[in-house]
Amino acid sequence: MSEDQKEVKQEKDYSKYFQSTFKAPSLKEARRRRKNTIQYLNDFSIPEDMKTIGQGKQFMIQTYGCQMNEHDTEVMAGILSEMGYTATEDPEVADVILLNTCAIRENAENRVFGEIGHLKTMKRERPDFILGICGCMAQEESVINTILQKHPQVDLIFGTHNIHRLPQLLKEALFSKEMVMEVWSKEGDIVENLPKVRNGNIRGWVNIMYGCDKFCTYCIVPYTRGKERSRHPKEIIEEVRSLARQGYKEITLLGQNVNAYGKDLKELENYGLGDLMDEIRKIDIPRIRFTTSHPRDFDDHLIEVLAKGGNLVEHIHLPVQSGNSDILKIMGRSYTRERYLDLFHKIKNAIPHASFTTDIIVGFPNETDEQFEDTMSLVKECEFDGAYTFIYSPRAGTPAAKMEDNIPMEVKKERLQRLNKLVNEFALKKNSQLYGEVVEVLVEGTSKKNSDVLSGHTRTNKVVNFRGPKSLIGELVNVRITETKTWSLTGEMVKEASVISE
Ligand code: SF4
Repeated sequence: MSEDQKEVKQEKDYSKYFQSTFKAPSLKEARRRRKNTIQYLNDFSIPEDMKTIGQGKQFMIQTYGCQMNEHDTEVMAGILSEMGYTATEDPEVADVILLNTCAIRENAENRVFGEIGHLKTMKRERPDFILGICGCMAQEESVINTILQKHPQVDLIFGTHNIHRLPQLLKEALFSKEMVMEVWSKEGDIVENLPKVRNGNIRGWVNIMYGCDKFCTYCIVPYTRGKERSRHPKEIIEEVRSLARQGYKEITLLGQNVNAYGKDLKELENYGLGDLMDEIRKIDIPRIRFTTSHPRDFDDHLIEVLAKGGNLVEHIHLPVQSGNSDILKIMGRSYTRERYLDLFHKIKNAIPHASFTTDIIVGFPNETDEQFEDTMSLVKECEFDGAYTFIYSPRAGTPAAKMEDNIPMEVKKERLQRLNKLVNEFALKKNSQLYGEVVEVLVEGTSKKNSDVLSGHTRTNKVVNFRGPKSLIGELVNVRITETKTWSLTGEMVKEASVISE
């Protein structure tokens, strides 16, 4: 046992009221896809003896990664609030600190380990606060081994499938003297009636499905988030209606691979994302978005429905990852460059004013200069409005991690630089086309750089800054664009003007 471990174990001196939970993750188990029917649970409630345990106490949740995680944080905040806790952003006074982690890239994980190390000092001074690790990293065996060996000050670890067990697990962490760990490596269920404390009242997230079955060779998500499973349309529509009644202006429908929505809903034959969007567009709410798409399941019916416009906004995030068919094949993306481009042009023809963004990985194992040039030429053909670009890094437990990571870092960096330069050129070109036009902006708050300036997004998801009274926050406003930059637009509010379809 290390000095650190001895120190923390000695400091903890609670009576051992409970049989401590210790269930560690298994990637092998998490890879399995069985034919079991998904369980839809509707019986969440806070145990009687935990309903007031947080009174006078505070919690803080630090969130890393995607919108899915942000939304999980809203659920955990809802559960903790029902237990009497109140939220704080100050770790010095928090009685419970949860790190809701992301496993998608190595540097995201390094940031979390850095934060755990930082909280170690605080734990020595204030041993009674509970430090919990949850989210995707908690589902990984390698992460759990590192925590067990190097970070014994962690009190609680739970995964993405058992957030609804937070009250019970927190109770054990409060009273047990052992580290409490419960990570389920199963394919996942759906728990419908979890409480939520939403972050803001203008834009809201609604999960439509969970998990991913695509198993792209570089990606850990199918292991950390379980199998593809869809919520029933009735539940989703009711949640969107309820947010509309509360005055929300924009909803983002969430899932790791939303285009696979409905495939598992055997009782609803051939019901897919297009059908769901066609129902949701009739709800009186100004804007509906969705993320994230996989090109493989993006079907004609969805395109047809999106082309109806209305509250379905004209922004398509369509991750391509590489412009070379051989690299796409070893990535396990199940489409070719040609199929991606066909789909891209089909959507563009149906929705001519849509903005397009994408995700690209450079330096995948064996990627040659010529193959990278295919990515560059695809970007030139698509003229994306923006792209999230990444250097490949292996994720332990994925098939790609077994391939030799054989592209030298300086080559990866040089490719990334060239790609970013190209992406930026098109982002600026697309934004410049809006100069002098009037666009509809949903005002979300003030600009981070200047509190006198309001900031929001267009339907096509571009950031617009303009001067106006704070009373406009939460409103849809027409703004004439007077300055265009690579990643944002500046404008002035106009009262009477017709808005262009961007
Ligand atoms: S579709 Fe997306 S989430 Fe699913 S495995 Fe591929 S990259 Fe990961």
